Amino acid sequence: MEFHVPTTAAEWADFSATPLEEPQQIELNRLLADCREAHESVNEPLITDAFKLAFHSHKGTLRASGEPYYHHPLEVATIVAKELGMDSECVAAALLHDTVEDTSVSLETIALHFGPLVTMFIDGLTKISGVFKSKDAKQAEAFMKLMLSTAEDVRVVVIKFADRLHNMRTLHHLPRHKQLGIANETLELFAPLAHRFGLFKLKSELEDLSFKVLDPNGYKFIARKLRERKESREQFIDDFMDPIRGQLHKAGFNFEIKGRPKHIYSIYRKMVGQQKPFEEVYDLFAIRIILHPPHTKEDCWRVYSFITDAYTPIPERFRDFISVPKTNGYQSLHTTVISRSGVKVEVQIRTQQMDEIAEKGVAAHWKYKQGTGGNASIDRFVHFVRDALSNPRTDAATDFVEDFKLELFSDEIYVFTPKGELKTLPKGATPIDFAFEIHSAVGEKALAAKVNGKIVPLRTPLVSGDQVEIITGKNVNLNPDWIHDVVTHKAKSRIRQLVNLKERKLIDEGKDLWQKRADRDKLEISDQDLTKVASKLRFSSTNRLFMEIATGHFDVAQLAKAVKQFISRGRLDDEKRAAAATMDEETLQENLLADARNVGDSRGLFINGQLTDVKYSYARCCNPIPGDDVMGFLSRLGDVKIHRSRCNNAAYLVRTEPERIVDVAWPKAPTAQYMGAIRIIGEDRVGMVSDITHVISNSMKTNMKSINVSSDEGTFEGTLMVYVEDRGHLDRLIKKLQKVEGVRQAYRFE
Ligand code: MN
Repeated sequence: MEFHVPTTAAEWADFSATPLEEPQQIELNRLLADCREAHESVNEPLITDAFKLAFHSHKGTLRASGEPYYHHPLEVATIVAKELGMDSECVAAALLHDTVEDTSVSLETIALHFGPLVTMFIDGLTKISGVFKSKDAKQAEAFMKLMLSTAEDVRVVVIKFADRLHNMRTLHHLPRHKQLGIANETLELFAPLAHRFGLFKLKSELEDLSFKVLDPNGYKFIARKLRERKESREQFIDDFMDPIRGQLHKAGFNFEIKGRPKHIYSIYRKMVGQQKPFEEVYDLFAIRIILHPPHTKEDCWRVYSFITDAYTPIPERFRDFISVPKTNGYQSLHTTVISRSGVKVEVQIRTQQMDEIAEKGVAAHWKYKQGTGGNASIDRFVHFVRDALSNPRTDAATDFVEDFKLELFSDEIYVFTPKGELKTLPKGATPIDFAFEIHSAVGEKALAAKVNGKIVPLRTPLVSGDQVEIITGKNVNLNPDWIHDVVTHKAKSRIRQLVNLKERKLIDEGKDLWQKRADRDKLEISDQDLTKVASKLRFSSTNRLFMEIATGHFDVAQLAKAVKQFISRGRLDDEKRAAAATMDEETLQENLLADARNVGDSRGLFINGQLTDVKYSYARCCNPIPGDDVMGFLSRLGDVKIHRSRCNNAAYLVRTEPERIVDVAWPKAPTAQYMGAIRIIGEDRVGMVSDITHVISNSMKTNMKSINVSSDEGTFEGTLMVYVEDRGHLDRLIKKLQKVEGVRQAYRFE
């Protein structure tokens, strides 16, 4: 019968109340006992319900060993509790770590009953389960960073290690080729990561289990040698310790003695690395004396003196890592002495807490060249992980971990392909970046993106841990605006390239359209002249013109018309050309200045709200008229120059001489007349000037000071100087002029 996952609080109450069968109850009791061993306070209902849910949801599934599947999460939970000493939420998460991925249990269900912390752990575990799917060991650094940046809480990663450890312990049930793959991955990826996390014991076991699979003969050789040496070795340690042991007991010390850990893979690595036979590697004796609580670091020194009393120390081999701990927090006293048989023996002395840190703490070999957080954040991280792992009983340490959100490597994000492949992108990257990262063809044809199963706009910024799928169309769907939505160089350069290509295509199309039209109308024009026509038509280039034609924004017939006019203008004689009076801008400015001087300087001016008789004039650079937003500038001669507020010169004065800026208001003199300049651009047609003057003089009853026009190759350009009352007057005038036939642009000349 299919297991019904409880979804409501009522169903949960029922589910929790239903007892387990006896064999499972025994298993659960054993786990709870392990938890109580490691922690003073254990959330038994939480662990019990997690166990029940794991048991029921995995029911019917078997492991490769033939065991029921739930034995795996149970074993992982046991490692988490017993070997790593982690808290109840971690144990519950370990029990449930495969449910969301492999069973009908959803994360929502877990959130409903197990609370946010367990939910976050399981979510993290589910997210990073894809991390290790790649076989590319070169990505180890990226994996490491991914684990740190997505896991949010370092405990997620530690549970992940426990998961792998149990899989390694049961690896022999899998077919040989699968064993090799997993062992390789463990050795290349997990073990180095565990090392960096300072999980030395776990790392050593992972290495040995991998080595056993990858090099069974090498493993057997070293294991046999160790067995052969075991007795003589233990005998040696016994003999060596004998004089010291008695002293320590007499002095009331509570301690234990450990020999060198029998870490097969490290012996192998030394043999290979140092090209030494087993005996030479192995016979570097090391003995560890661990002082149980309540012994303190001061007691380590007392033990040290007992040892150096009994044996001759080699002074240069002395290390005090207690007063000066290693950067990873490692603390211990190391001394090397000569045994009675003349063998060098390294003795390490430390308290139990120091020993725990050394085995379970986090090492600080994190020397990322490109890490942004710098050593400070890594140190901080190492510090509290070490705290949390070595001292799980203190609530403070637990809170510290809970509050912690990893801020390392914040300039990079790590996202997945649908197949679980990892991609590293800069922070701020969007699905467009991701698409181009996969392949430029994917980027070009991207239509939409699915992030964690949901369709999102392509420009949505991604965050670490997102699984991203790009939905592509058959055709290139590139949007030039994407250039603003990407951060990777790859995407940027490719988008630019493609935009250029696209433009090139449009240009060719537009050129084609024009060529056909020109052939039909029998128009012949050189490229150079066509450029002139394009510029008369206000296009920045012929390419731009062709593009507008191709996209239908500009009618090719209009171009034909302009070209015809251009060709006919070419026949005009030079005389007419000269007759079209041209006035360069400098001359115009001079006129404006002269006019400005003549107008308005005798009227009262309001400065800072006060009517004054200060002399003033209008700045020639911006030629203000009533209605304009203005400001005054007090000149050194004591008069005021009035600028429009938006004038560039005014802005400069505000920045450089703010103390000379005065607040001015326009005097309310109804008869005042101000000089306004209007620029007109349009077709050069017969009667244009008379139409313009008619609008100004007759229709608007405005006095015109001057009109200067130039016409060249079918285009008319004119500048009008008119007397206006205020800005509204000028605006109305411009509006009227814009309606004159053939006028393309009429605007205030500034
Ligand atoms: Mn698992």
